[in-house]
Amino acid sequence: MANSDEIAEIRRAVRALCADFSGAYWREKDCARAYPGEFVDALTKAGFLSALIPEAYGGAGLKLNAAVAIMEEIQASGCNGASAHAQMYIMNTLLKYGSEDQKRNYLPDIASGKLRLQAFGVSEPASGTDTLSLRTVAERDGDEYVINGQKIWTSRAEHSDLMLLLARTKPREEVMRKTEGLSVFLVDMRTVVGPKTASGGGMSIKPIRTMMNHSTTEIFFDDMRIPASALVGEEGKGFRYILSGMNAERILIAAECVGDAKWFIDKAANYGKERNVFGRAIGQNQGVQFPIARCYAQMRAAELMVHHAAKVYDKGGNPGAEANMAKLLASEASWAAADMCVQTLGGFGFAEEYDVERKFREARLYTVAPISTNLILSYIAEHVLGLPRSY
Ligand SMILES: Cc1cc2nc3c(=O)[nH]c(=O)nc-3n(C[C@H](O)[C@H](O)[C@H](O)COP(=O)(O)OP(=O)(O)OC[C@H]3O[C@@H](n4cnc5c(N)ncnc54)[C@H](O)[C@@H]3O)c2cc1C
Repeated sequence: MANSDEIAEIRRAVRALCADFSGAYWREKDCARAYPGEFVDALTKAGFLSALIPEAYGGAGLKLNAAVAIMEEIQASGCNGASAHAQMYIMNTLLKYGSEDQKRNYLPDIASGKLRLQAFGVSEPASGTDTLSLRTVAERDGDEYVINGQKIWTSRAEHSDLMLLLARTKPREEVMRKTEGLSVFLVDMRTVVGPKTASGGGMSIKPIRTMMNHSTTEIFFDDMRIPASALVGEEGKGFRYILSGMNAERILIAAECVGDAKWFIDKAANYGKERNVFGRAIGQNQGVQFPIARCYAQMRAAELMVHHAAKVYDKGGNPGAEANMAKLLASEASWAAADMCVQTLGGFGFAEEYDVERKFREARLYTVAPISTNLILSYIAEHVLGLPRSY
């Protein structure tokens, strides 16, 4: 695990990089719903997106606590890490369960920035929360798998070379437990995007415009053929692999939420000191300062849980409960801070040039995705408190 001096240095370096990407840059991208490629390239070039890749494959070989610091600082600087966070949280599945060939073939190029691993295809139109009822199928045919089905909300697919895909390799009726029969594939999208032809294709990507700039898409698979070597780990065990990766995803998203909360709190506190109404700073009124103070306390509590969850993860423990609680507390802290910030800025909270309305829209996502608050509460009720399963 990176020690506190190393973490402080990482934070300083990320802040310095982010200073080159001003609010004007993000407003322009947001307005055009354009991918912030320059920002992602800068993060890659500085080595931040390969933090979790082992040194033997060209990465920095750092642990999750370093990735947490990177993602938090990006958000706290006013930037949007959603453009690049998947490379961090997908990595775990590949590192833990990928073959040596897969690692040697892809990791050095991901670390150097030649390839992007930014797409994670799990959700489907009929199965978001209920992952186990997904319908995309992968059928073995000689040295290949043939994929048919549809994914939705596959973010960054148009800006990624590789996608981690979850598909069913055995019908649900034929498996003993519903968690079996799903498999994970590392799809090299450079060979399969486009209409189905004799030489390839079979995957089409359709962008979905959302309330914030998120480059999300839906994907259709029509007899898409991929080599059998794209299978990650063993066939049928994919759900377990994805679940283990999801802890890292939840901790990293929670770190982003803490960063967002810090940004909103900072913005509101500064505004409260500067804005004069009735001849005094608005922040002198308890009605204005108490909500900011409350959000600060909420953010700090979430931050502690995020750091604790990362510690359990880095020590090789199972941080299921901690990762879920970190995500719950941090997403609620960032959303509370977003709402408080708009209230503190009054009318200017709605003006684009203050960036608050943009961050407000961006922060809204995280009580829904990648897992919604209700499902986290169900997890805690069932797995921590031993209450009966509710679904
Ligand atoms: C912008 C964006 C980007 C995304 N990026 C990705 C991505 O890159 N890859 C990917 O695979 N997915 C992605 N997702 C999908 C995301 O993970 C899902 O939206 C999320 O898991 C919720 O699933 P759903 O939308 O199908 O909601 P549903 O499952 O339809 O649920 C709707 C509501 O009902 C509630 N609910 C459902 N069942 C229960 C229950 N039993 N008890 C209590 N409440 C319940 C949920 O909490 C939720 O509030 C993204 C989504 C968005 C919006």
